[in-house]
Amino acid sequence: MSDSEKKAMGRRGFLKTAAATAGLAAAEAASASAAAPTIREPAAEAAGNSPLSKATTMPTMPTKLHQADVCVVGGGMAGLVAAVAAARHGAKVVLMQERPVLGGNSSSETRVHVCGADRHNGIKNMRETGILEECRLDNMARNRNKIFSIWDTILYEKAALQPGLTTLLNCTCQSARMEGPRIAAVTGWQLTTQTQHTVEASIFIDCSGDAILAPLTGAQYRVGREGRAEFNESLAPEAADARTMGMTCLFQAREHPGPQAFEPLPWAYRFDRCEDLPYGRGRHSHIEMGYWWVELGGEQDSIHDSEAIKHELLRITYGVWDHIKNRCPDKARAANWALEWVQFLPGKRESRRYIGDHVISQNDVEAEGRFPDLVAYGGWTMDDHHPAGFWAVKQAKPATMFHKSPSPYGIPYRSLYSRNVANLMFAGRCASATHMAMSSMRVMGTGSSMGQAAGTAAAIAAARKITPREVGGCMKELQQALITDDAYLPWVKQEFGPLTTGAKLTASRGDPAPVRDGINRPVGQDAHAWPCRVGDTLTYEFAKPARVEAVSLILDSALHKNIQMSYHQKDDQLSAPPPELQKAFHVDVLSGGRWETLARVEDNHQRLVRIPVGREAGGVRFVLDGTWGAEESRVFAFYVD
Ligand SMILES: Cc1cc2nc3c(=O)[nH]c(=O)nc-3n(C[C@H](O)[C@H](O)[C@H](O)COP(=O)(O)OP(=O)(O)OC[C@H]3O[C@@H](n4cnc5c(N)ncnc54)[C@H](O)[C@@H]3O)c2cc1C
Repeated sequence: MSDSEKKAMGRRGFLKTAAATAGLAAAEAASASAAAPTIREPAAEAAGNSPLSKATTMPTMPTKLHQADVCVVGGGMAGLVAAVAAARHGAKVVLMQERPVLGGNSSSETRVHVCGADRHNGIKNMRETGILEECRLDNMARNRNKIFSIWDTILYEKAALQPGLTTLLNCTCQSARMEGPRIAAVTGWQLTTQTQHTVEASIFIDCSGDAILAPLTGAQYRVGREGRAEFNESLAPEAADARTMGMTCLFQAREHPGPQAFEPLPWAYRFDRCEDLPYGRGRHSHIEMGYWWVELGGEQDSIHDSEAIKHELLRITYGVWDHIKNRCPDKARAANWALEWVQFLPGKRESRRYIGDHVISQNDVEAEGRFPDLVAYGGWTMDDHHPAGFWAVKQAKPATMFHKSPSPYGIPYRSLYSRNVANLMFAGRCASATHMAMSSMRVMGTGSSMGQAAGTAAAIAAARKITPREVGGCMKELQQALITDDAYLPWVKQEFGPLTTGAKLTASRGDPAPVRDGINRPVGQDAHAWPCRVGDTLTYEFAKPARVEAVSLILDSALHKNIQMSYHQKDDQLSAPPPELQKAFHVDVLSGGRWETLARVEDNHQRLVRIPVGREAGGVRFVLDGTWGAEESRVFAFYVD
């Protein structure tokens, strides 16, 4: 979007309704043809088999067709979680991701830590569980030194090893084919294989951050800040404008045993005084990783101007490092430090936002979002960065304003599907929200929560051949599916089947009732947990023998502690599985009046554990054999299906 386009849109809240695909597809074909090499056998090459022996002209590149139930575009945290959730619910899924790694801004390419409703563990027990928690706990078990490439690997294998999920990395979605109001297929160009991948699917979920499917399909979207009156938002500017939050290039630095020189770059900015930087002397003291306030682009087009903005960001980033090393009055503390990484892929905060059946506003956030169709939740403050970003310092303005929001607040399902494209869903920062609400919802923990909801709903829609909107009629089923997968939905309880609710529940110590109270984490003063020590047992006995398919447990991953993947080595960050987590336990079944051990788990690091049973039993019993170090642990849920 050009400056003039932004201005033209200025007063109307930036409702956009289309950009067709035909022109884009034609341009693609023309450029593919112009760039065609001269020594290829076209037919063989198109079939993915490319002898280099014969000279010929080659008008086409290889094409692959994928048929799926669900196609997810964009493999940031929201997209990865959506794809895994849909596949686990039985859908055949293709995930198209333009980068070599998954995780979006949390990947090693960008290195932003995943935050959410617990605000860096400032609000205890509010962390997002479900698939994100599973990734984080894998990370605790395997990434003791908090290396982002290992985090990449954990996310990669979450996708690569997931049955039913095909992941197309390095594949940029560039066009879409419509059939009436529905998307029939999307096509992406895979850089590494020089292949066009076309994915036909029943449901498409856009998690690209930039809402790439909006201009490609005609789905309605917004850009910029709403005027105060439109949603009655007290924090919004008086008049609508096209300004957004900007993007950032971070750095990482490492301490060495001896002094390290840094030669300023001639093309970088020079900051002689601390006051030239946002927040002055106090805010560049953590020198291991640089700074969210190196931010630009909010007054430009955060999509089409990205490369020019990145160049300016690099000039600032290297200038800030030069200041730290060579000019800051506190430069002695940086003497032994040297840069080891600078981000060349700018991390983005805001661009297009889809319009769904509901647009979440500041007022929804402030009212706690207690929607009947609540399927996800947030809790980050409304963290609204100044559009001038780094240069707000020249106006003596802060680079961001933190506005209060409750934690948690609910996110309704109606904000996760398009109001005008029948089979389009979305999650992450492009979900249906005003600028003000998005300033809170954009964090990746919240994006993951939305992603799990969108992926689960998409699988339901695909299986029943209904639209995402029609899934709204199956809300109880969707909510219960999410909670069963350990996604947290504030104010919604898990409902258990008669085998669990009708069984006699006993424990070797304390009151076991909380393990089937339907709330699987501490809320307020209530732990909603059964406390246990090594050797303790928790037992269900059925009135008469019954077939048991599975035993499920929600264990203690210490939701009150910090298990974030971050390069900021804050004192409270764990770097191993939480000590209270149950490492070893066994599950027994009652058979013919005797207890038999069905499964023994020796090295657990997960919170949600499901153990298949598949036989008749008179009862089941959980026995704790060991933790990751603590004497006492807790079980939040124990149930049978
Ligand atoms: C410097 C900085 C600091 C931040 N601090 C925090 C923080 O501390 N904690 C926090 O949680 N959030 C933070 N945020 C915000 C957060 O990073 C973003 O809001 C978040 O990444 C949005 O998640 P997403 O999944 O929607 O998009 P992304 O993380 O951007 O993921 C989208 C993915 O889709 C891919 N994609 C885009 N277009 C296409 C296409 N055409 N085809 C295929 N794939 C495509 C992208 O390459 C990307 O990998 C910060 C952001 C920045 C820039």
